[in-house]
Amino acid sequence: MAEFNIALIPGDGIGPEIVGGAVTVLDAVSKKYGHKFNYTEVYMGGCAIDKYGEPLPQETVDICKKSDSVLLGAVGGPKWDNAPVRPEKGLLGIRKALELYSNLRPSILKPQLKDASPLKDEKLKNGLNVMVVRELTGGIYFGERKTASDGSWASDEEKYSVEEVKRIGKIAFETAMLRDKRVVSVDKANVLDSSKLWRKTMIELSKDYPEVELTHMYVDNAAMQLAINPAQFDVIVTSNIFGDILSDLSSAIAGSIGMLPSASLGATKCGMYEPIHGSAPDIAGMDIANPIATIVSAAMMLEMSFGLVEEAKAINSAVDKVLDMNYRTTDIMSDGMTKVGCAEMARLIAENI
Ligand code: NAD
Repeated sequence: MAEFNIALIPGDGIGPEIVGGAVTVLDAVSKKYGHKFNYTEVYMGGCAIDKYGEPLPQETVDICKKSDSVLLGAVGGPKWDNAPVRPEKGLLGIRKALELYSNLRPSILKPQLKDASPLKDEKLKNGLNVMVVRELTGGIYFGERKTASDGSWASDEEKYSVEEVKRIGKIAFETAMLRDKRVVSVDKANVLDSSKLWRKTMIELSKDYPEVELTHMYVDNAAMQLAINPAQFDVIVTSNIFGDILSDLSSAIAGSIGMLPSASLGATKCGMYEPIHGSAPDIAGMDIANPIATIVSAAMMLEMSFGLVEEAKAINSAVDKVLDMNYRTTDIMSDGMTKVGCAEMARLIAENI
């Protein structure tokens, strides 16, 4: 039996519903395996702006830093679109505060969800099992932003240091060593200086990993290749913005953005785990969101931060079992399946732990 402190950030929109679903499943794990999970719920995003006047209160940072890991729903929504500071600033702030420089986003096409993928069977015959390793605390999202005082122009800076590229590259190569030993580094080195540095650094780093095959792809081609031959990829390593976009694309291929988890890791074992989707304000409060991405993110937390490999497997198997039993949320619904809501999907998964 082990005890872990988990900071919960439900956030906005569907956040509280999907995090609630993940807690239902974690409670089932704790009951079955005898572990103790202590949850502390904190505010971030729009709800924090409403309560504290800022998207990332210091108290939230402090509690997250003291916890063994963080489980996040999502932040943002139209209510705060014109707020002086946007909710998403909280997200960037917590990533920076916890030094979470790498974001691992696995996209796996489950055989049960082939019908939910927009790609034709022919393109999916070899499946999809890609790990997008996205740099998370550098690049254009953290570069200098400027807007002319008269509003006639605006700019955002894309900047990477060799050290930043090296540390994310290491994560990608080490991830590949545990998989099929193939890394595709995605950049735009035919145009951008920051990408030229990215590519040069990856080539240099690859010398430390002779067993791993490193290839390079321009981001525009990578988007096309994901759509026409998704099975060719094992690990993709890329910058903050390219990773954001490509992982959404790979999630669509896997059936729904509501299925895909992510782990954000840094120098310590304390990671932040969250679905790759946003707060889905269009379906918030309706109990129709898919909680699976968040539940599987919790499984990644158990495995990667707590070393609870068997418990993580139990969650993934329970998800598969429930899909095999033909239960679906609206986003992955197809003919002949039984539609269930967010809470019911979580309850079914918990029941199958
Ligand atoms: P989104 O991911 O919230 O939604 C895109 C579409 O996918 C919507 O139609 C939504 O209903 C659907 N969807 C998303 N998650 C789903 C789920 N679990 N189950 C079923 N359907 C789901 O992206 P968006 O609409 O561009 O952004 C909405 C808000 O979320 C914005 O304020 C944005 O800034 C924010 N956002 C936050 C994060 C985060 O907190 N990590 C990430 C992306 C976007």
